[in-house]
Amino acid sequence: MELEANSERITSLNAHDVERDELPVDVLVVGGGPAGLACAIDVARRFQEAGENEKTVLVIDKAEELGHHTLSGAVMKPEGIAALFPDWRERGFPVLADVKDDWAELLRPGGGSVPLKGALCPPQLKNHGNCIVSLNQIVRWLGEQAEALGIEVYGGFPAAELIRGEGGRIEGVVTRDSGIAKDGSHKGTFEPGMRITAEVTVFAEGTRGSLAKQLLRDPQLGLMEGRNPQTWGTGIKEIWEVTPMVGAELEGKVIHTGGYPLDLNAYGGSWIYGLPGNKLSIGFVVGLDHGDARLDPHALFVQWKQHPRIAKLLAGGKPIRYGAKTVPEGGLHSMPKLFGEGFVLVGDSAGFLNAATLKGIHLSLQSGMLAGQAVAEAVLAGDTSASKLARYDELFRASSAHAELHGVRNYRQAFAKGMFAGLVDFGVQKVTGGRGLVARRGGHADHECMQPVAQSRLEKPAFDDSASMDKLSDVYLSGAIHEEDQPSHLVVADPTICVDRCTKEYGNPCQHFCPAAVYEWPESNAGVVINASNCVHCKTCDIMDPYENIEWVVPEGSGGPKYLDM
Ligand code: SF4
Repeated sequence: MELEANSERITSLNAHDVERDELPVDVLVVGGGPAGLACAIDVARRFQEAGENEKTVLVIDKAEELGHHTLSGAVMKPEGIAALFPDWRERGFPVLADVKDDWAELLRPGGGSVPLKGALCPPQLKNHGNCIVSLNQIVRWLGEQAEALGIEVYGGFPAAELIRGEGGRIEGVVTRDSGIAKDGSHKGTFEPGMRITAEVTVFAEGTRGSLAKQLLRDPQLGLMEGRNPQTWGTGIKEIWEVTPMVGAELEGKVIHTGGYPLDLNAYGGSWIYGLPGNKLSIGFVVGLDHGDARLDPHALFVQWKQHPRIAKLLAGGKPIRYGAKTVPEGGLHSMPKLFGEGFVLVGDSAGFLNAATLKGIHLSLQSGMLAGQAVAEAVLAGDTSASKLARYDELFRASSAHAELHGVRNYRQAFAKGMFAGLVDFGVQKVTGGRGLVARRGGHADHECMQPVAQSRLEKPAFDDSASMDKLSDVYLSGAIHEEDQPSHLVVADPTICVDRCTKEYGNPCQHFCPAAVYEWPESNAGVVINASNCVHCKTCDIMDPYENIEWVVPEGSGGPKYLDM
């Protein structure tokens, strides 16, 4: 699509001045991931315990079916699910494998690797007692538990706009219109989105939620006042079918690697999780504060797969699934105020992730439950003001989730000056209760770290072996699909910046950092071509564009990837 000028920032593609159906509920949860579903389940149980069976809890998700847009590695600490369902195992919670063994490896650029096993394995990478899981399967399972409690769960309902009431109070959301053509005209299938109003709206949109972003940037709400900007990594994941020999050797095992292909100035690493049925979950995450304008997380993943240590594991196998997602790594200092008038933020949308241990599912579940208690108490008391919902913050501060995040509060920021400085500081953090060398580390937004393209040193890998899937082949494995005849959900606020400034200053980094080949620059240099239907909803572009010129807004219907058993 050739760009056309947009004079003002577009945050929703909905039509104006159309009549909309209205659906009032007591509690609306926007996003059917682990945090949103845990919150809904906790609220519904509390309503039932109070005998308030007529109170309504609704979960909406932009994916057609729960889990289609949900992605993680994933190794899970069980304490979150055990708090939500003490009998989680007996209920059939989907576990792919209990972790049997774990270690780390340092990949050398020349080809060798140094295994760090037993006492040499960094303690934060030890996974004894944890489980290897598929987040899609977990979310589907949680959805079934939610529906059994009478919670309504609607898939294919992307939340496009905030409904604001008196004094800016959040009163619900408007879902995305469908049937709008690329040129903005209404097709015969046009259907206006619905106004869903609620006493409390729970924002559980996952990483870089598009409505959560509006809340976090609202100066009146001041949710990020005194906080560090969030910092993200982009994670690339494939599921591989491997030979029975490798499958049997690695089933139930967890390996993390550092080193190649990153140098000592960059933050990131990889995982290899052994799944049943001769499958491996493999992935690579790189911090988006990397600074190189040609940073290409997918290319780094390819280089990592080409390392002889990894190539040996993949030889004779084939990739069967692909996905990509950003990960909020900033920790406690980057978390926003969690509540406001009529709303709360949970899960990845609020930065509940322990970057040191690479774990977030248990924290998302815990955040959902803590929010659920506060939300239920507020609704039952008939007072859903910010001061009543502040109870969520109180509960969080008294929780094991807060204690865990406080213990690694300076972790990610310590790596801003490179791996070596970060590791030294992290060592000090271990003996100072998370303080480290500096009491409170600050940070920069990832896009501010980008350096001019003239300083770029990154090279693309050669795609000359069976492990080296290109982006388009990988997108096919993600199942990504969108209605073609709709306005692009990747909105460029000022296309002239792309041509007049970005080309010279940063070399149009969108063509590199997008892991789904959405952005292309034709030889004519006339402007970016956006292949929006490839988008896997990772949100890297929304975070990483050096001018913050790209706005990711929800597409219509259930467009996006179709992650299955990932
Ligand atoms: Fe990710 Fe943006 Fe590319 Fe979509 S267009 S896959 S959100 S970087």
